[in-house]
Amino acid sequence: MIMPTSQSESEAPAPYDFDGPSTAAFPTRVMVEPTEVCDLACIHCPHPHFKRSPQYHGLALDPELNAKLVDEVRLQGQGCLQQLRYGGNGEPLTHPRLFDMLDYASQQAGSGVTITLATNGRLLTPEHTERLLASRIQIVDISLDAFSPATYARIRVGGDLNVTRQNVLHLIEHARAAGATLQIVVSYVEQILNHLETADFEAFWHDAGADHIVVRRLQSCSGAKRELARQRRHLNAQQPRRPCLYPWQSIVLNAIGHLAFCPTDWARRSVLADYRTTTIHDLWQGTHYQSLRRAHLDDDYADHPFCGQCPDWVATNWPHLSPTHTALPLPTNSRPACLPTAQRNDLPPAPSPLCPCPAGHRRSDPESRPTGGSLSFTHTTS
Ligand code: SF4
Repeated sequence: MIMPTSQSESEAPAPYDFDGPSTAAFPTRVMVEPTEVCDLACIHCPHPHFKRSPQYHGLALDPELNAKLVDEVRLQGQGCLQQLRYGGNGEPLTHPRLFDMLDYASQQAGSGVTITLATNGRLLTPEHTERLLASRIQIVDISLDAFSPATYARIRVGGDLNVTRQNVLHLIEHARAAGATLQIVVSYVEQILNHLETADFEAFWHDAGADHIVVRRLQSCSGAKRELARQRRHLNAQQPRRPCLYPWQSIVLNAIGHLAFCPTDWARRSVLADYRTTTIHDLWQGTHYQSLRRAHLDDDYADHPFCGQCPDWVATNWPHLSPTHTALPLPTNSRPACLPTAQRNDLPPAPSPLCPCPAGHRRSDPESRPTGGSLSFTHTTS
């Protein structure tokens, strides 16, 4: 039984169903994981543990499967799919044919699909910058997570902020010089080690000309970060559980070539099928997704224990609820969650539904905004 979670909801039934942009025909958001390999070992990311697990094989996605997906998007997903995001559990720029895959997506996915690349930026060399701009994708989302090199080194283990920052500044400079429409997002997972330099981060990238500055909250990655999951479950106990948005919104093609329902799964427990033998269209409308959605609506996860144990449903933002969730606590001097940190332009409120993170929060959305000016906002992350 799903209970209302706010006064306004109690006045009208909560539409936990396909509504507005989400559709029973095809997902609105498809995530492609180009590789399991990552060149950093960030402390808030499950990858270091994932890399030692039996689920990790160091695989890279077969470009033929990417082509199959893009073709399916063009033939079946037109008018439904809004975002095709390349990211996931590894660093996309380590894939030797990443730009071939982005080129194909950009040329063949069809109109109305926003193509995003999520990267840590370490390998965003001048050569890669040229390839990125030539690909004509719409958004690049670069995870930085620090203002000072010392903090960066502690959070993004194996990286050097001086190198990555120079890569991003070079990208901004060349994108502007070329008149490119690529929107450049710099992002930041706020946590204990960096929360006192968030404002400096925002100010620096505003002045540097980033289109959007995204400050995200820590999440448990579907329970993979166990201490965060424990804290989140404790906080969640203060409110009734509601359905997670993902079963109505997203599907993932992972580097193995499998389709999965959860964009924040580091245990490969949301895998549904091998994409070589099925289609997104059939899976999205098939019995497993129907059963999963029913479990979320009934709050009965006996047949879907991965979702049952997961506390991150609270961080997915249904359009009629956003934002309602409670943030994990940070030390003093931090801001309350889900409040704009700073409005640095005077663009009108965006009508668009999706923000550039995998969670798809409905806040200040670069995918629907004209370029020019930067905007900073906080929300949860995955
Ligand atoms: S409830 Fe958790 S595991 Fe299930 S789809 Fe949502 S985020 Fe993923």
